Amino acid sequence: MPAEGAWAFDGHILLLKEFDIHKQPSKIEFTTTLLVKIYELLMSICNLKCAELMVNKIGIFVEADQTDILVPSKALKSKVDSDLKKPLRCGLMLKMNGTPSWFKMRSVKLSDFCYACGLLGHDYRYCQHHDAGVPESCLQYGPWVRASPMKKTPKSMKG
Ligand SMILES: [Zn+2]
Repeated sequence: MPAEGAWAFDGHILLLKEFDIHKQPSKIEFTTTLLVKIYELLMSICNLKCAELMVNKIGIFVEADQTDILVPSKALKSKVDSDLKKPLRCGLMLKMNGTPSWFKMRSVKLSDFCYACGLLGHDYRYCQHHDAGVPESCLQYGPWVRASPMKKTPKSMKG
C-alpha cells in the first residue's frame, strides 16, 4: 500500500472512490492522504494557520499534529490530500520576509514510489520516464524521501 487509501498493484495505483454522477470522468480527482513532516520551521510560522497555508501549497491540508506545532526544533507533522498524478514533494520554497527559504519535507509510511518520476505506485525500473542507463544513485528521488517512522511516546512506567 503506497499511502493511506491507495494500493499499488502491478505497477499501477488502485484507488477506490465513490462515483459522483454529476462529474465528468476526466474531472474526477484522485488523491490519497499522505502524512508529511516539514522540517526547520521558523519560530514565526510555528502555528496551525501557517501550517495549513504551507501544506496547502503541496495539496489539501487535512490536519496537523498540534502537539509539536509550537516547537520549531521538531518537524511539523501534517496530513495532506495529495494528487496521485503529481510527483512527491521533497520540500517547499517559500519567501520569508523577502528571502527564499527551503523547507525540507519527508513522507511517512511510503512503500512504492518511483525514484525517477516521484509518482506513487511503481518502481523506477518499470518507469516509462526512466533511462535504464542512469544508475539509481543519480535519480531525482531515493529512499531518503521517506521520513523515519514517528516514535510513540513511551507510557510512564508503573511501579
Ligand atoms: Zn516513474
